[in-house]
Amino acid sequence: MRQLGILGGMSWESTASYYRLLNQGVRERLGGLHSAPLLLHSLDFAEIAALQQRADWSTAGQLLATAAQGLERAGARALLLASNTMHKVAPAIEAAIDIPLLHIGDAVGQALQRQGVTRAALLGTRFTMQEDFYRQRLAERFGIQVILPAAAQMAEIDRVIFAELCQGQFHASARDFYLSCLQELRGQGAEVAILGCTEIGLLLDGDSAPLPLLDSCELHVAMGLEWLLAE
Ligand code: GLU
Repeated sequence: MRQLGILGGMSWESTASYYRLLNQGVRERLGGLHSAPLLLHSLDFAEIAALQQRADWSTAGQLLATAAQGLERAGARALLLASNTMHKVAPAIEAAIDIPLLHIGDAVGQALQRQGVTRAALLGTRFTMQEDFYRQRLAERFGIQVILPAAAQMAEIDRVIFAELCQGQFHASARDFYLSCLQELRGQGAEVAILGCTEIGLLLDGDSAPLPLLDSCELHVAMGLEWLLAE
């Protein structure tokens, strides 16, 4: 197997899921003592989150591009950027490396397409929900119409991500709130819900949700596994 690089730590709560799921996937496929050949560069999320707050995407892009170059030099032959939000700077990373960045939006879009879905609710940080970089990719490449929560709900969804989920806190109050948002989005015609933040899958359980859930973390891992296990 070729080595797969991970840009992680955003937050480490979900990077830990990437690590576990990639290794589990390789074990399921190859058996025995096989595990995933991975190189991880885990950043300090406080630094990244401060840059997001200041909208200093150019410094954030440079930081991640430098980390990506390090993974390439260390022998990675493809990269996963383990955050939906930071795909806002995917072009800066891609410009700095000669190996493919396996894009989380494509992992999600391909899954939606396979399921024949055209209208999907999107939960994520305010950047992922409100800005173009994610929704536009889903619309242009996969023909997906994204349905968003109301403005006040988006603010609370975003607050929960940074103040709770990324700090390892998974409360029933947040779960109930997210589920009530999904209920409304279903009423607006959403066929499924994209968990477009890699920590939300740690909070929500598909069985109690009013819509089928598509977890960006799991789908991104599946894309990484396909690459790892390809000839
Ligand atoms: N992990 C999150 C995501 O998938 C949020 C943290 C971040 O802002 O990078 O978007």
